[in-house]
Amino acid sequence: MRKKIVAGNWKMNNGLIQTETLISELKQQIKTSDAEVMIAPAFTNLWHAFEATRQYPIEVVAQNMHYAENGAYTGEINAGMLKSIGIQTVILGHSERRAYYNETDEALAKKVDTALNHDMSVIFCFGEELADRKAGNHEVIVQEQIEKALFHLDASAFENIVLAYEPVWAIGTGETASPQQAQDMHAFIRKVLANKYGQDTANSVSILYGGSVKPNNAKEIFSKPDVDGGLIGGASLKAEDFFAIVNAF
Ligand code: PEP
Repeated sequence: MRKKIVAGNWKMNNGLIQTETLISELKQQIKTSDAEVMIAPAFTNLWHAFEATRQYPIEVVAQNMHYAENGAYTGEINAGMLKSIGIQTVILGHSERRAYYNETDEALAKKVDTALNHDMSVIFCFGEELADRKAGNHEVIVQEQIEKALFHLDASAFENIVLAYEPVWAIGTGETASPQQAQDMHAFIRKVLANKYGQDTANSVSILYGGSVKPNNAKEIFSKPDVDGGLIGGASLKAEDFFAIVNAF
């Protein structure tokens, strides 16, 4: 059965004290859930978060990493550094990184390879812009993003890849894709995977939805058959809202 996942992307929010506070609130509220719970704090707080959640069913994941093994890349973090503090999973391809740091599909393909070579898991994000959706090109764009970054891989690599469909027009805007729009795109993504790797692989990959998921819309989005969870930005910064979303399963 596919994994159900709710992952909180904290982005560039929360210093050490706020991280400690939010994690202790999460620890108080976490219960066994059908969904795996992940949080992605800033790099500076990953070690603390990892240590603080050791005995709890919360996985601490990274928001990004470089594709190189090491070297003269000032300000960057590599896979080995993440692994050295216990981090097993990295988010790659977030639309904010694509937009503000010019992350191309080609660079993302390299990052995915590096993560997998280090036995890490990847939450791979992609999604169309509003103009693409309006022009009816959303499926073409999404297919291209997936193909360019992932389709050089063997089917077995998908055991360690979770996909996150995040329409750019829905991220941080308060505008959510309708549950049906999410379902339609997730079903399309599964078809794209099935055409390349076969139905068994396509059925085994978890596909998360991201884009203004809130306590009041999570249940309906998660009720769709091809939606296996959510990547949550803004609402993951408040323990109460985050757990309302986790409990929507
Ligand atoms: C995100 O950035 O991955 C995201 C989904 O953000 P938000 O929930 O705030 O739209």
